[in-house]
Amino acid sequence: MSCPPDASGRRDYLAAHVLPALDVRPFIGGAFVEPRTDATFAVGDPTTEQALVTMPAAGKADVEAAVEAARSAFDEGPWPRMSPSERGAVLNRLAGIIDRDLEDLALLESADAGKRFQGVRAWDIPHAATVYRYYAEWAGRIYGDTLPPAGPVRVSTQREPVGVCAAIIPWNFPFACISWKMAPALAAGCTVVIKAAERAPLSAQALASRFAEAGFPPGVVNVVTGAGDVAGAALASDARIDKITFTGSAETARSITRGSSWRMPRLTTELGGKGANVVFADADLDAALDATTDAVFDLSGQNCCAAGRTYVQREVYEEFVGRLVKQARSRRLGDPLDDSTQQGPLIDRDHLRTVSGMVTQALDDGARLLTGGSPAELGGLFYEPTLLGDVSAGDRISREEVFGPVGCVYPFTDLDEVVALANDSDYGLSASVWTSRPGTADSFAERVRVGTCWVNCFGYFLPYVPWGGVKLSGNGHDLGREGIEAFLSTKVVYRAP
Ligand code: NAD
Repeated sequence: MSCPPDASGRRDYLAAHVLPALDVRPFIGGAFVEPRTDATFAVGDPTTEQALVTMPAAGKADVEAAVEAARSAFDEGPWPRMSPSERGAVLNRLAGIIDRDLEDLALLESADAGKRFQGVRAWDIPHAATVYRYYAEWAGRIYGDTLPPAGPVRVSTQREPVGVCAAIIPWNFPFACISWKMAPALAAGCTVVIKAAERAPLSAQALASRFAEAGFPPGVVNVVTGAGDVAGAALASDARIDKITFTGSAETARSITRGSSWRMPRLTTELGGKGANVVFADADLDAALDATTDAVFDLSGQNCCAAGRTYVQREVYEEFVGRLVKQARSRRLGDPLDDSTQQGPLIDRDHLRTVSGMVTQALDDGARLLTGGSPAELGGLFYEPTLLGDVSAGDRISREEVFGPVGCVYPFTDLDEVVALANDSDYGLSASVWTSRPGTADSFAERVRVGTCWVNCFGYFLPYVPWGGVKLSGNGHDLGREGIEAFLSTKVVYRAP
């Protein structure tokens, strides 16, 4: 049976076919195994606020078993010793399985994370498949160098897998984010323990159930899910981990850094943002408007590259902001499994409280409410698309990531001023600029301190293009050549005759 075309049919299909087939136990050493701890937790559907499944909460003992499996698969197993083409073939097979099971995987992730089904079906799942295919090719492109000899002594380098990797995953892009970590790690010859996000773990479980079919030897990829401060902390501080690759909040990154600092594993961090979206008066305002609406509200703003700060040049400020308010008011909130929905719920009630609290504080601090500002009439975990004006650069709402459908708008006068405003942030993940003048675009892109700058476009992510932030937005990159470099170390060999 295939996935039905309407929301209620999809939810029935999920309950009758997809969830019953899902094994929610830890995946360790090539199989789902009995949990070593008794704790469980309910995985909620943010749209209905009902539990989708109850699953074991991995504890320290489960994490230790997963690390042990990954360690022995690395130290003694076939994976790091396989030919690159064999490793690539396994990654390609996984990509083919993902293509085949697209609808079921999309449905699971959509219901679990409250993301629009059509968005997940069109992007998250197929994107992950292209990432596995991209790094399958990289497996055969890992070369060392021959360096100039020192007299009779020959010198060469070889690139080696860094070892056992911990991949700690956020809830907002779980399936795609796992591919960003796992694909390059495996192509390099590493083994991996994935700590899925407890707020949306189900697509990781579904992926694990496909590893044997793809042909991964036991222990090469392991999946555990549990609370961050228990399972995540145990993984990050395990002495047998050689590398941690983390995506999530800066606060968690600090905790991981502290917990692992005694042995200093390699660490890549992909963290939050407070994106600046800059609209010059000479821009194509229609295009800028549609993209700004997406940049602020897509995924209910629960997006690391969300444009929390939109700067509009004074000449067009009133007109542009007026049109943006209209767009915000016309957004269709509803069930993410319904194809007509533009904006789904927030991930859970705690998060709804956080978003509401930040907006209330902004209004207390003197911000002007342009639209929204409350939980939506629809009830549940829906929050109105919200725009705030008259916001000071020093206010909490200007400086911290809201991770909700909330945008601030600010007027600016010229390029120098807006570069300074955009850079006045602890974060440096991404920015976008809208202008018809190439010189203005080039100058902004050069001077803005971010990992990615989109010019007259927004939100491109491609497997071969590195993605990472500066400042509090992280350290290192996923994707592209940089993505696999992060899982390789260089060994030098001096060889005397
Ligand atoms: P989070 O930091 O709360 O959790 C991320 C992961 O870390 C989860 O698996 C969690 O269980 C785990 N964790 C929590 N505490 C831990 C601890 N003490 N030790 C080890 N692991 C721990 O983040 P989140 O709410 O899942 O995701 C939202 C954040 O992620 C936002 O800040 C967002 O901007 C960021 N994000 C960044 C990118 C990027 O590419 N830069 C992509 C997606 C999300």
